[in-house]
Amino acid sequence: MDLIINLVYIVAAISFVVGLKMMSKPSAARLGNFISALGMLSAVVVTLFSKGIVDYQWIALGLLIGTVIGIFAARLVAMTKMPEMVALFNGFGGIASLLVGWAVFHYSLGAGAQSLDSLQTVTIVLSVIIGGVTFTGSLVAFLKLSEIIGGSPVLFPGQHIVNGLLLAGMAGSGVWFGLEIAGMIPLVFALPAGYVPFLTVVLLSFIYGVLFVIPIGGADMPVVISLLNSFSGLAACAAGFVIQNNILIVSGALVGASGIILTNIMCKAMNRSISNVLFSGFGSSSVAHGKAAEGTVQPISVEDAYLILEAAGSVVFVPGYGLAVAQAQHVTRELGELLEQNGADVSYAIHPVAGRMPGHMNVLLAEANVPYDQLVEMEAINTQMPTVDVCIVVGANDVVNPAAHEDETSPIYGMPIINADQARTVFVLKRSMATGFAGITNPLFFRKNTRMLFGDAKATIQSLVSEFKGS
Ligand code: NDP
Repeated sequence: MDLIINLVYIVAAISFVVGLKMMSKPSAARLGNFISALGMLSAVVVTLFSKGIVDYQWIALGLLIGTVIGIFAARLVAMTKMPEMVALFNGFGGIASLLVGWAVFHYSLGAGAQSLDSLQTVTIVLSVIIGGVTFTGSLVAFLKLSEIIGGSPVLFPGQHIVNGLLLAGMAGSGVWFGLEIAGMIPLVFALPAGYVPFLTVVLLSFIYGVLFVIPIGGADMPVVISLLNSFSGLAACAAGFVIQNNILIVSGALVGASGIILTNIMCKAMNRSISNVLFSGFGSSSVAHGKAAEGTVQPISVEDAYLILEAAGSVVFVPGYGLAVAQAQHVTRELGELLEQNGADVSYAIHPVAGRMPGHMNVLLAEANVPYDQLVEMEAINTQMPTVDVCIVVGANDVVNPAAHEDETSPIYGMPIINADQARTVFVLKRSMATGFAGITNPLFFRKNTRMLFGDAKATIQSLVSEFKGS
């Protein structure tokens, strides 16, 4: 049976890799997701036949509860709340790995049970440390993102020293744990060998998780979530070593590696380093907010905007977080089709960090069946932008902020942006002059070639669609 289980594990591992690769292309992403999910299902099913399982009752109960939560979460959570859900799921992953480590340690204390070998001891400590940090760190990220607690960075004097001491405390308690269960040092408390240092590691990891995330501003939470996602993978990988389960080791390592790659991609797209994201307190009042914008804001009516669009030969949509809030993806596709019927070249410019999670805009536009060949990446669209007649910025702000090129004092200086300001005419669809996620003014809104179409993006585009249809 073990041979069959391991063979299925190998096929499942291959399906994860193939699925991940396919997810990098919008046209193949759905199939890639399905293939990986199928691989995971088969891995779970064969695991149920492994000889280590002595009781199916608890597994069935866990499966039932998990399935119900999963179905409700997937159906009820709005697209705009997806990062919060991912944060919570990372936290669940972290605590699950911690509990696996705890369970194996606890059962090793039972009468007649085998004592832990050195690999298990080390990996139990790792699964607890990484799992615990991931758990509380993800909870704080969730609370910040959902604005249950304030998003601004919490900084205090000596923060790095406290964090350093906590790290040293976790490492020290881990060594204490190992020495105690190996019987190399006497017990300090009247608890089974290893329990006091074990609980110390758990406690310190929980505290460290909180302190790791609170100094990071809400604007950087998506990057932190991606990093915590990577941590949850590493915790699962460590738990895989604890229970010697090959597929848990492989899938944990894949999540760990892909999470860190994604974190890196996000940092690059913002022209920031990971240490700048983690330690700079971006978004705090002490960080620069850039120069004040010069020029006049020029609002435009839907009727006048329609007349300009009617005459346009090329139109580029730049979707941002506001598209997700307004749920304007379907009506945007409809407007795009009407513009095409009117003879315009239509494309959609996708910034890698538009929205609140990687691929956010791709997912929304795919949901609205926007043809994949109309999606253009930032570098490609920027070369064409000076020849574009109208650039329609739909609820985007930071990702089209020219301060990133022009204002050395701006906190986003150096971040690659979509050069919407270089189009002949720019329409900005938003509800007010409010700032975007980074909390900084956008000089684009004051440019001579920019017209502000104030209002909810869905309602505005719906009105433009009605103009085109003559109703
Ligand atoms: P922004 O957060 O910069 O701007 C969103 C804009 O949408 C706001 O200006 C808001 O203005 C407008 N808006 C909100 N609701 C509506 C509505 N119903 N109708 C019309 N407009 C609306 O979004 P971007 O996508 O431009 O930038 C993403 C930001 O998130 C960047 O700062 C990026 O660095 C950050 N980020 C993203 C990550 C990712 O993975 N995607 C990762 C890390 C960070 P108003 O309120 O006036 O309507």
